[in-house]
Amino acid sequence: MVITRFAPSPTGYLHIGGLRTALFSYLWAKRNNGKFVLRIEDTDKARNSEEATEAILNAFKWLGLEADGEITYQSKRENIYKKYIQQLLDEGKAYKCYMSKEELDALRETQMANKERTKYDGKYRDFCGTVPEGIEPVIRIKAPLSGEIIVHDGVKGDISFQAEDILDDFVIARADGSPTYNFVVAVDDALMGINEVIRGDDHLSNTPKQIVVYEALGFEIPKFYHVPMIHNAQGKKLSKRDGATDVMAYKEMGYLPQALLNFLVRLGWSHGDQEIFSMDEMKELFDPKDINKSASIYNTEKLDWLNAHYIKNTSNEELVELLTDFGVVLSSHDKKEILLDALKERAKTLKELAELTNEVVTTPKSYDEKASKKAFKGNAVEVLEVFANRLAEAQELHLPVDYHHIMEKVVQEMEIGFGKIGQPLRVALLGKLSGPGLDVVMAVLGRDETLSRIANAVL
Ligand code: GLU
Repeated sequence: MVITRFAPSPTGYLHIGGLRTALFSYLWAKRNNGKFVLRIEDTDKARNSEEATEAILNAFKWLGLEADGEITYQSKRENIYKKYIQQLLDEGKAYKCYMSKEELDALRETQMANKERTKYDGKYRDFCGTVPEGIEPVIRIKAPLSGEIIVHDGVKGDISFQAEDILDDFVIARADGSPTYNFVVAVDDALMGINEVIRGDDHLSNTPKQIVVYEALGFEIPKFYHVPMIHNAQGKKLSKRDGATDVMAYKEMGYLPQALLNFLVRLGWSHGDQEIFSMDEMKELFDPKDINKSASIYNTEKLDWLNAHYIKNTSNEELVELLTDFGVVLSSHDKKEILLDALKERAKTLKELAELTNEVVTTPKSYDEKASKKAFKGNAVEVLEVFANRLAEAQELHLPVDYHHIMEKVVQEMEIGFGKIGQPLRVALLGKLSGPGLDVVMAVLGRDETLSRIANAVL
């Protein structure tokens, strides 16, 4: 069974890059009827916070990404790590190193002066002498001194690392007994049965070290997929300004979860030239072998385009519900269907939809000066008065088309162009010259509110 995982360190919010690897891992597990598990890598007490863990879980909830089984917290597994560290010590695959900080610093300086790679020199690897007093030892793993370590990567192909170029006997437990990052990642992935690891390629340099741990403990090495980074339009690493921000900020900006997920799945992965993927399609089609080898480019217009598509395809009932988060309450509005049918064609985000909605349902407090000047020329007031009279006399007024007929009637009766009524009416009803179709606006407002807004404007 394929078991994948997402293993965030709760040092901050869940951001777009992290979410994308989480999504890839989730989809690959689902495609294989496997499991997707969540492991919170919270061993760094100084940098981790409960709020950050909470924020990650909230983001998962919002996006509907459900992890299988219990969430694993590394902070609760110290005994497990200790056991495996002891096992390596017992088997002679790891050892205690008593090098003092001063000694280590001096070693580094000499290496740097000689333009050599800085690395531990293996002094205590096979040490038989008397160990210095007063030093709490760290524990180092015996890494291969030569030969190559090959990472079989599902995205990048086989990558060969020369042991002497990148490895030394790295620390697996600090002087206080706490295990180090590469050690716990390998132990956890193995014990949790993770057999396919999908993660950012910023972790690629850790992989040889983790392979050393797997091999020392006799664990099976998982399949790795290192996903290239997301870049901005300038080809640079994504920054906060480009959108590399808290995933929940996308909710506040009015993006729908499915739009964000669809956007992310296409960042670095493709399936022909298809752009729109439902969750079911993603689960059916995602394959990490199709992940691009080069960095992907973050493009806000694409996200907006996808979001507009999903807004258009969201039921009005659901939109009414979603808009409440943006302060718009439409539940008892009897013309909400007409309004949303028209506005959802125009909005790129829920926030925009909320603004457009408010522009219609709220009586204008002021009139855009330029628009008024442009619209209220010639006999505009007279036109509006005639229109108001015809509206007051009309029988059936329900649909936009009913209002449209009255506009047509006035246009014919007064022998004017449509603009002569459209512009002043628009300013009277909305305070400005933009907005949805006037027939829709009037149908939503109803006769009384329409008449009252006209009366206010011509006063
Ligand atoms: N905890 C690591 C991070 O948040 C990820 C570890 C991994 O995926 O192997 O960057």
